Amino acid sequence: MKNKNFNVSRRLFRQAKDLIPGGVNSPVRAFKAVGGNPLFIDKAKGCKIYDVDGNAYVDYVLSWGPMILGHAHPRIVSALKKAVMRGTSFGAPTALEIELAELVLAAYPSMDRVRMVNSGTEATMSAIRVARGYTGRDKIIKFEGCYHGHADGLLVKAGSGAMTFGLPDSPGVPKSYARNTITLPFNDILSLKKVIDGEWRSIACIIVEPVVGNIGCVLPRPGFLEALRKLTKKHGIVLIFDEVMTGFRVSFGGAQARYGITPDMTCLGKVIGGGLPVGAYGGRKDIMSLVSPEGPVYQAGTLSGNPLAMTAGIETLRELSRPGIYRKLERNSARLEKGLIDAARRAGVAAKFYRAGSMFCTYFTDQEVFDYASAKTADTKRFARFFAGMLRRGVNLAPSQFEAGFMSLAHTDKEIDSTIKAAYEALKESAK
Ligand SMILES: *Cc1c(COP(=O)(O)O)cnc(C)c1O
Repeated sequence: MKNKNFNVSRRLFRQAKDLIPGGVNSPVRAFKAVGGNPLFIDKAKGCKIYDVDGNAYVDYVLSWGPMILGHAHPRIVSALKKAVMRGTSFGAPTALEIELAELVLAAYPSMDRVRMVNSGTEATMSAIRVARGYTGRDKIIKFEGCYHGHADGLLVKAGSGAMTFGLPDSPGVPKSYARNTITLPFNDILSLKKVIDGEWRSIACIIVEPVVGNIGCVLPRPGFLEALRKLTKKHGIVLIFDEVMTGFRVSFGGAQARYGITPDMTCLGKVIGGGLPVGAYGGRKDIMSLVSPEGPVYQAGTLSGNPLAMTAGIETLRELSRPGIYRKLERNSARLEKGLIDAARRAGVAAKFYRAGSMFCTYFTDQEVFDYASAKTADTKRFARFFAGMLRRGVNLAPSQFEAGFMSLAHTDKEIDSTIKAAYEALKESAK
């Protein structure tokens, strides 16, 4: 293991802190949960990412999920080069928007209509507005540890960022907003039933990450998503699957295809933008027909449907539609899973590993993780030591115990096996 030098990253971080709050444009990037300085990135290619000090890493952050094909995929780069020459934004409809909408609707049969936005936050915020407009009700149910972007009213028990910083609610969110958000434990059908039986008349929607990626990787217990579907249907509550992370990730058709549940509305982001800023929300025709200008629920965006973003999305989804792609992701992810579980056992470290397709998390705990409270039993200090050990060995993990890791199509057995070897050494070290 050669010693790495982080001098340029350090200098840039000092400079950034005088200009940008905390030196970063999104909080989890700041390495606060693990200590140390964030890496400033120079470039990335395939499964590798390179910092400004010239260090290379095998990357399992993948821009927090979008880069499922690997970084700077030739197909995306060449399509974007062509697109940029035609102009970068028109503020008028293009055929590209039809193409991406067709690809999304074909993959998600629960959606009859889809609207493009610029981020996952916009997608969930808008979907909830539509659900409220549709039902004429104000309250929403979300689950502890689920993150649905940073809109007011959704920043209640909202996963990794909030967990890391110990801020279950953010200052600046009016109490009156948060009052309309009911928060329940994930995977707990009984408490859900109780609340719905009592309050369904005022509940517009339930929004859920069908696999919770924002407290690591928490899988739905058998029957939980089914119960959500049954109870919402019975009481006219809109069921929103926030598949911003899981969409095109846990399968081509997302968690709804993987678990065989049909939500009323779906939010997408991350992978559908192929690394450019894209979000989308959609659902049943009778619900989506309320969206402006077809209906009265207002939602708009100067750069929505941006031609570069649409191009990256289209090419990503086309590449993902090729036969064998998800089989390959599954195979690679299973290889990593097996290796990491084995490494933890050999190193004598208590760990629980969870995975849905190509998203996963290793929790340093001996307890089953099935919700926010059980995720919190993980040893974050050990994670910080493990994280630093992996970084020194050239593996880039998300800088928090409560984030999912991601596999891309660019990772090969060579990098996966070197990751497992690094993990064994870093785990040994962390046990000291
Ligand atoms: C990332 C994420 C969001 C927010 O998306 P942004 O593009 O960061 O606004 C919303 N929901 C889930 C499930 C996410 O993982």
